[in-house]
Amino acid sequence: MIFLDAAATTPVRREVLQAMWPYLSGEFGNPSSHHSLGEAAATALAGARSAVANVLNCRSGEVTFTSGGTEADNLAVKGIALARKAADPALNRVVISAVEHPAVEESARYLERVHGFAVDVVPVDGDGLVTPEALRAVLRPETALVSIMYANNEVGTVQPVAQLAAVAHELDVPFHTDAVQAAGWLPLDTKALGVDALSLSGHKLGAPKGSGVLFARGRLRLEPLVHGGGQERGKRSGTENVAGAVALSTALTLSHAEQSTAASQVAGMRDRFIEAILANVPGAVLTGHPVKRLPSVASFCFPGTSGESVLLELERLGVVCSSGSACAAGSDAPSPVLLALGLDPGTAQTAVRFSFTSAVTAADLEQTAVAVETAVGRVRNLAHHPN
Ligand code: PLP
Repeated sequence: MIFLDAAATTPVRREVLQAMWPYLSGEFGNPSSHHSLGEAAATALAGARSAVANVLNCRSGEVTFTSGGTEADNLAVKGIALARKAADPALNRVVISAVEHPAVEESARYLERVHGFAVDVVPVDGDGLVTPEALRAVLRPETALVSIMYANNEVGTVQPVAQLAAVAHELDVPFHTDAVQAAGWLPLDTKALGVDALSLSGHKLGAPKGSGVLFARGRLRLEPLVHGGGQERGKRSGTENVAGAVALSTALTLSHAEQSTAASQVAGMRDRFIEAILANVPGAVLTGHPVKRLPSVASFCFPGTSGESVLLELERLGVVCSSGSACAAGSDAPSPVLLALGLDPGTAQTAVRFSFTSAVTAADLEQTAVAVETAVGRVRNLAHHPN
């Protein structure tokens, strides 16, 4: 099987399993306990926090461990907006882009439904890009927060995060970015990016599902969503997932060290794969930005097919990928991200995403390109001759 669905999830790396194992076995203490087992766990957690801070170029105290990317996004969007509105009730609007993951979009909708916020959605262009001008046009004196993702999970488009954060700062508005898909492929220096908050998820990086991080700049107030014993400096109560934190920090440190080499190698293979598909599959359309895209994502529409049918044919041919984002899989509704790029609903339903780990090989992608040609041909034939 050729696994080309790394944007959905990745296997746990051996080094990560080895690093986390002690905290699931012998060193199983609760970091809040006042005995040697507890202290060992607290030390491991502090080490994991400082390793994450090292990659993000921030202070340890600015790193909060969460149960994943979804929780990190919820904590950022709701936590920052609610804290700002509590300090100044006039701050009752949030800005998100038209291509956010549901973890951001639904958090903003919750603020609208339950807390009386207005949500301003910045449009994207046909490649999925938010321009600084488009952001400037929706900012208001009442804007409490801007949340725009670093890289899109369906089409791979990479946003000009540093420029967009600078635009938000012109009005003193904090800027959050969902970097879940960017991690491992793009630089994560929070100072260079100029962001005030950034979300990560362990399972896209070779750590287990259910581990995540929110970076939130020191001066930024954050209303907690989970209340209890005051762990994570009161930002996220609950006994810490020590093994998960160690796993995420290990995976992040490894992928950070490998990032520039992996990004350039995989980007070269991605470009050859895109060329092969566009040359050999009649009517194939690349979605997302042709250049400003994740090294690891190649996404297409194949008019005259359905994405789900192409997916099934590809699986029969030994290739596993996705017909949209994992969250939208199984639903018949066309992807809101593709509609936001201006695709018509019929074409949006023909989307297929190929996403790679750094272990992908040129041979895998050559074989996949041939399989795609076959799969699309079979689905089109069936559409014309149903029986
Ligand atoms: N944000 C983006 C861009 C994602 O792609 C995902 C996962 O698909 C998430 C957030 C959610 O992360 P998690 O699965 O860790 O909750």
